[in-house]
Amino acid sequence: MKNFDPKYNDIPKTEIHCHLEGAIRTQTIIDVAREYNLNLPAYEVAELDKHVKVLDQMRDLQAVLKAFDIFQNSITSPAVVERIAWELFEDSARQNIKLFEVRFSPDWAFHGHNLDWDESLEGILRAKERAEKQFDMAIGLIAITSRGMGADSCIRTVDWAIRNRQHIHAVDLADGELLYPMGDFVKPILKAKDAGLKVTIHSGEDTPASAVWDTVHAFQPDRIGHGIHSIEDMKVVDLLRERGITLEVNPWSNYLTNSVPAIEAHPLKKLFDLGVRVTINSDDPEVLETNVNNEYRIAREILGMSMDEIAVCNRFAFEASFIESAAKQKIWDKYFTPAS
Ligand SMILES: [Zn+2]
Repeated sequence: MKNFDPKYNDIPKTEIHCHLEGAIRTQTIIDVAREYNLNLPAYEVAELDKHVKVLDQMRDLQAVLKAFDIFQNSITSPAVVERIAWELFEDSARQNIKLFEVRFSPDWAFHGHNLDWDESLEGILRAKERAEKQFDMAIGLIAITSRGMGADSCIRTVDWAIRNRQHIHAVDLADGELLYPMGDFVKPILKAKDAGLKVTIHSGEDTPASAVWDTVHAFQPDRIGHGIHSIEDMKVVDLLRERGITLEVNPWSNYLTNSVPAIEAHPLKKLFDLGVRVTINSDDPEVLETNVNNEYRIAREILGMSMDEIAVCNRFAFEASFIESAAKQKIWDKYFTPAS
């Protein structure tokens, strides 16, 4: 489903919801396994793809979890972290993404091989600096804390992000909203906010509108990851609109994970028409075999948004981007034509 149709490729783009761990090229997994003597179910791209990509809506959860084991085990050194980040920036630049935010969970990504978080961050920063120069793009970083890793992990991640706030723009609470209630995470996330970090929360992906309502009231987030089930309650839609909260929407991801029953049923355009600040993103471009160009194709050709409406989504993403104002404004003025 990767799409490089010039009709979409030529448009300058923003992306504000993309997971580093879900963006590792299959060839890179193979190269790393050879270099570090790791076991893989296959050593050919086409064969390994069957183990590391979700191509059908009904793919079972166990298979997906196994794929994530492979990703975690592939992150073997800060040099590998740098390579993965660089390749993601390169793939983003290829689609003409000019404003790009990448997120990663240090406690998950660097846990498999016990990597030093600061050294791994330095690898990402080297890749970022090189990509910003070579591709003339602006890149932002978000630290994820995964609900499934518990409250202590959240505290550790927030403290680390605060210590590195010169480079980390925001924190994101992700993963298992259905399984892990928010209570344990409110205090550390609010601490991040108090320290000047921005906040985005995965909510309303596989949970009802009420979860978004509770999230907005508990965390006062700047943005919400997904948030698509807000459409089920106009009270929640009104709340998002009143507070100007931006949704980071990932249509193809929502379809593959059964968060919407069919891609045609995706509420992206409905939310847009209701005045919610929606943006268009890829989530896990390698795992889900998608890219922002593909998400634009879905928005345009399946959900019926116009190119002007898609340009407005880009403006929403620019306005809500956590990247420093001067850096994002420079890129915006240079590449994006203003959308009304
Ligand atoms: Zn996500």
